[in-house]
Amino acid sequence: MTQTRPARGFAAESPTTPLASFSFARRVPGPRDVQIEILFCGVCHSDLHQVRDEWAGTTFPIVPGHEILGRVTAVGAEVTRFKRGEIAAVGCMVDSCRTCPECREGLEQLCQNTITFTYNSPDPILGGMTYGGYSDSVVVDQDFVLHVSEALDPAGAAPLLCAGITTYSPLRHWEVGPGQRVGVVGLGGLGHMAVKFAHAFGAEVALFTTTPGKASDAKRLGADEVILSRDPRELARHAGRFDFILDTVAAPHDLDAYLKLLKRDGTLCLVGVPDKPHPSPSAFALIGRRRSLAGSMIGGIRETQEMLDFCAAKQIVSDVEVIPIQQINAAYERMLRSDVRYRFVIDLTSLTG
Ligand code: NAP
Ligand code: ZN
Ligand code: ZN
Repeated sequence: MTQTRPARGFAAESPTTPLASFSFARRVPGPRDVQIEILFCGVCHSDLHQVRDEWAGTTFPIVPGHEILGRVTAVGAEVTRFKRGEIAAVGCMVDSCRTCPECREGLEQLCQNTITFTYNSPDPILGGMTYGGYSDSVVVDQDFVLHVSEALDPAGAAPLLCAGITTYSPLRHWEVGPGQRVGVVGLGGLGHMAVKFAHAFGAEVALFTTTPGKASDAKRLGADEVILSRDPRELARHAGRFDFILDTVAAPHDLDAYLKLLKRDGTLCLVGVPDKPHPSPSAFALIGRRRSLAGSMIGGIRETQEMLDFCAAKQIVSDVEVIPIQQINAAYERMLRSDVRYRFVIDLTSLTG
């Protein structure tokens, strides 16, 4: 039987109960495992969707959190890539099948067999479900642990593990760069990282926002123009101008309004995952200019490391508001009101403090 040690975190016991203190067990590190004392964990809108069972797949109790950054406290005998005392990070996945074509290509997030997500996934080692980063520690196979430069602010680096890679990956896949005009829809956790990356890749960047008060921040983060998306006439003025639009919105909305802004052969890529479907796009919005509607999910481990190294070289981190874990339920309510500048990050020392 796998040996365990006690751990503490915050969990929700049902879709309608607030997150509260929770005790559980973590495995003692096996030969290939890295044990991490968690310092910071970002708060992703996916945490909120799953805590409230909006995707209808949550097993309770749930300990969310997949933007994990901490310090290595122990490693197994066969671990070669991490040492005690180093900063290390864990994102949305802690294992995959490792044998399917996608895993072999380093696209573990698209694994066609079994992905073990960091939380709310069946735990193949301990049984029960995996528990995430709203907790004091985590134990993960070294192949799913990332290196983070000590030169980056650790609280600001934590959100790179989901908001960072989820926006970096599609911008790279669709080869966004100089000479292109790129739109980002929504200035939240994902959106503000998309603006930073698209700008760093040399594209001309437009932010579409429902919150006029975010305009000056958007410019500071790297947007060349800000377009208010609540007014359909304002959107229509930009028809046919964009090569690529990344849509990070967490609620259903009219996709045609954005498809019509694409040039010939342009792509609208969805990364937001609302609880209910978007109204269907009209074929007319696609066919006349051979436009594409696409989607993207996080990114593979190799690309996540590439993104973290890119951020270290360019000094890119997330703009964060650090909170003690006791404020998590209030933070969720603010996230729902689009009132976060631009990612909440939990300081896990508050669990014991
Ligand atoms: P977030 O911080 O809440 O940001 C979402 C932003 O969307 C808001 O700040 C707001 O920006 C805009 N927005 C919200 N409600 C809107 C509405 N009704 N109409 C138009 N705009 C609205 O959330 P996040 O953490 O960035 O996550 C965004 C979505 O991506 C979530 O659905 C999450 O589950 C999903 N996600 C997907 C992946 C993936 O792999 N594909 C990974 C992580 C997260 P403005 O105030 O600027 O309008
Ligand atoms: Zn996430
Ligand atoms: Zn696989």
